[in-house]
Amino acid sequence: MFTAADEYGIELSIDERAVERLLSVRPADVEPADRLTFARNVFIPLTTACRYTCTYCTYYDVPGEASLLSPEEVREQCRVGADAGCTEALFTFGDEPDDRYTAVHETLAEWGFDSVHDYLYRACEIALEEGLLPHSNPGDLTEMRFADLREVNASMGVMLETTADVDAHSGGRRKTPGQRLNTIRAAGRQGVPFTTGILVGIGEGWRDRAESLLAIRELHERHGHVQEVIVQNVVPNERSDFAKPDTATMRRVVAMARAALPPEVSVQVPPNLSPAADLVDCGIDDLGGVSPVTDDYINPAYEWPDLDGLRAVADAGGMPLRERLPTYARYLPDDLRPVGVDPAPAPTDRDAWLPPAVRARIADGDVHGRRLRGVARGDGPLAVRSD
Ligand code: SF4
Repeated sequence: MFTAADEYGIELSIDERAVERLLSVRPADVEPADRLTFARNVFIPLTTACRYTCTYCTYYDVPGEASLLSPEEVREQCRVGADAGCTEALFTFGDEPDDRYTAVHETLAEWGFDSVHDYLYRACEIALEEGLLPHSNPGDLTEMRFADLREVNASMGVMLETTADVDAHSGGRRKTPGQRLNTIRAAGRQGVPFTTGILVGIGEGWRDRAESLLAIRELHERHGHVQEVIVQNVVPNERSDFAKPDTATMRRVVAMARAALPPEVSVQVPPNLSPAADLVDCGIDDLGGVSPVTDDYINPAYEWPDLDGLRAVADAGGMPLRERLPTYARYLPDDLRPVGVDPAPAPTDRDAWLPPAVRARIADGDVHGRRLRGVARGDGPLAVRSD
């Protein structure tokens, strides 16, 4: 029996037989999906400050060097994204900047914000004003933060990465598996459609991968909120020499993810980091957020493919490519769900997964509302070959 994260009172336990079953899964044991989806986003790195120093990460900047986008810059990025037909504003930063980031805190205070999360709330409002649906990845959050930020987000996320204690997270300031599991649980308790995932190749073993996937499944079974699980391989970069896992490893992990998770939870690989065309028969059904206008700031050396590149992956699997919103269809209101998609049971203590501000954004009669509704229903403005 595996027990995780007891310092957060999670009481998560995973049966050893389920781990063994998952360890035996191979690509031939899973069915390919019948479609491949993606979301068109604009990537907005609100700040590069992060209190942690994960050894594989090139995203964070040390105190004194960290950037902080101004509200005007956020608005401009959102406008560019909306004009390019994006539906999602992907707000990302590491974990709440600690006291060492005095310049960041002072600037936020000058702008009238008590914390980076208060500022994120305003940034999400700006995205909604400009015609985009916010999807925020702000690191670990408490339930109280989720209760606040859910009001202006279409969906949110944090990578579990692994339930193992790995050296890649070591050092004086380190994130822990318990924190991440606690964040995923907090999102579920607050009824937030949620994205998480595992990071492959940071020192974890096969058993850790199986336990991580089963931990995600258990939290989803409790709260119904996990919309997709990313299976992401580590990539070499200027701060780390972790080797990129080979294709055979990724095929097996993706198949394990598909076998571990219920069918309503998508399995995603990032097409700029993974050999997606070689994984498409192992159960993936999503390629994640792909931006026509911004870099992947987490992995800036790895360019996103364009739409034809995504189509090539779908073609390799003999499946159609479909565009989606950051919120998966089953969490959308009745009038926006495509035919044949069953609604997710309502979250505990709430009447809907999407908050009023996001529903109002999608329902708006302007050009952005029409675009969002078209993508939601699957009748446009989906990709065309010449896009
Ligand atoms: S991986 Fe995330 S938590 Fe770790 S240093 Fe990078 S931004 Fe921070």
